[in-house]
Amino acid sequence: MKAIRFVGVGKPAEVVDLPKPTPGPGEVLIKIGGAGVCHSDLHVMDEELGLKGPFTLGHENAGWIAGLGDGITGWKEGDPVAVYGPWGCGRCHTCQTSAENYCENHASLPTMGGGLGSDGGMAEFMLVPSSRLLVPLGKLDPAIAAPLSDAALTPYHAIKQALPILTPDTHVVVIGIGGLGHMAVQILQALSSATIIAGDIDDGKLEHARELGVKHTVNTRNGEEAAEAIRKLTGARGAVLALDFVGAQPTVDLCTKIVGRHSRITVIGLGGGTLHYAANNPPYGTSVMVPYWGSRTELMEVIALASSGRIHPLVEKFPLEKAPEVYQRLRDGKIKGRAVLIP
Ligand code: NAD
Ligand code: ZN
Ligand code: ZN
Repeated sequence: MKAIRFVGVGKPAEVVDLPKPTPGPGEVLIKIGGAGVCHSDLHVMDEELGLKGPFTLGHENAGWIAGLGDGITGWKEGDPVAVYGPWGCGRCHTCQTSAENYCENHASLPTMGGGLGSDGGMAEFMLVPSSRLLVPLGKLDPAIAAPLSDAALTPYHAIKQALPILTPDTHVVVIGIGGLGHMAVQILQALSSATIIAGDIDDGKLEHARELGVKHTVNTRNGEEAAEAIRKLTGARGAVLALDFVGAQPTVDLCTKIVGRHSRITVIGLGGGTLHYAANNPPYGTSVMVPYWGSRTELMEVIALASSGRIHPLVEKFPLEKAPEVYQRLRDGKIKGRAVLIP
């Protein structure tokens, strides 16, 4: 079968031929219907994150069960499923609450998940080590649903934690309207009545936010001007939540300038920015969150939101073997919504 491999830091992804895997005891074989192309893969290929190749990329996967290892019950071949991405130990207290994204034993695990240390879903088939990592998709098309498992789950987890402060008289700023950001906007619209302000350096992405119904958009290329424009919209209270899907120095700095007192800065992007602190800067009472992905039950909630039509990933589909070209397009900011590879 064809697969897209991470072969080492500083090297582009390779298209290779691999044998079709066979599920061992407790494992499930998935026929991939779609594998999302996440910006995190660019960090994996560009930066020393401690991940050892080679392995098949793709940590945002959905498809159909194509084989069940010994001991698996309750599932059958052909069932459409999303693959939960952050694989924990499955035994610790936190994993038992379904938040494997915060597994207590993460440091000693051999992989962070399929596509992040071991073979992922940018292939015709993928092995999942346990059926506990599968969530039923119902009627959703796997090719559309793949991004739900990360591009939607990650902002969902971050936004859910902030819901108590997102009252109707508040403003939330979403920075970076790409794969995760365009889902964040829709999740905010579905779950809260806070006013959304979208920020990006790309006017096309801001146009996308307006297509999604966001009234206020601000180009953030000039940080000072952007902060002023946003403060004009929020008034003295400032934003109660800044969701940063870039996490680079200019966006982290922007967050500190636009939130008010007793607010929250949530940094999700892995852009390597540093958050400086001085008296009242960020303003007193601000909490800083650095969430990672989401829990298994939150993935069920995200799938329910999508099944009821309240969120809808905008997907650009590409054949699997186009992955190297698609990564380049993502790097150049030329993907609207999420790119999904279809084997
Ligand atoms: P993407 O490439 O689809 O979108 C990024 C968006 O940010 C684009 O619209 C781009 O125009 C915009 N942007 C880039 N630089 C900017 C700047 N300086 N100011 C304002 N906007 C800017 O990326 P994605 O797949 O949505 O991922 C976003 C980030 O989130 C990546 O860093 C990724 O690694 C990270 N991520 C984190 C988690 C987590 O659990 N913490 C999970 C998934 C992805
Ligand atoms: Zn990702
Ligand atoms: Zn665990």
